Amino acid sequence: MSDEPAGGRVSVSVPDQVELPRLLDFYDYQTPEDTRIHAFYDRLREGELSTTTCADCGAVHFPPRVVCPECLGDDLEYVALPERGELFAFSEVRAGAPLGMEDDVPFTIGIVDIGDVRLSARIDEAASDDLEIGDPVDLRIVDVEGPADHDRVWFRFVPADG
Ligand SMILES: [Zn+2]
Repeated sequence: MSDEPAGGRVSVSVPDQVELPRLLDFYDYQTPEDTRIHAFYDRLREGELSTTTCADCGAVHFPPRVVCPECLGDDLEYVALPERGELFAFSEVRAGAPLGMEDDVPFTIGIVDIGDVRLSARIDEAASDDLEIGDPVDLRIVDVEGPADHDRVWFRFVPADG
């Protein structure tokens, strides 16, 4: 496990005034009772972004899997991803933000190449006008406060310092 992620750590909240319809809650439930990829969240909570790789065919997946989509093998293991990725694409959200993010608009979302995978995530601390394709971005772990009976965690990125 790594130390504090390069992008630092922040908290966000999801409204708890209403009983959230499950499908409107952006963040996954993360316990072993809720998901078979709970190890991904356990590792993220410890500061490490990870994913699964297949021992049979070598495929690297994202998001993590319980069965390899390439060869249907189930001998998968978790591997750490780097803390720094590279912007493949990005855009700005100006409307239609998920529940709990309505007050954040406009904000930037990106497609990030990191290690052997490509994933989508919010890009904090940057307006889309300030970014260019290929910019380095660093992992930021986000603690999610809100209506769940367990602590949740998620990931974003911030522009790398240099
Ligand atoms: Zn495989």
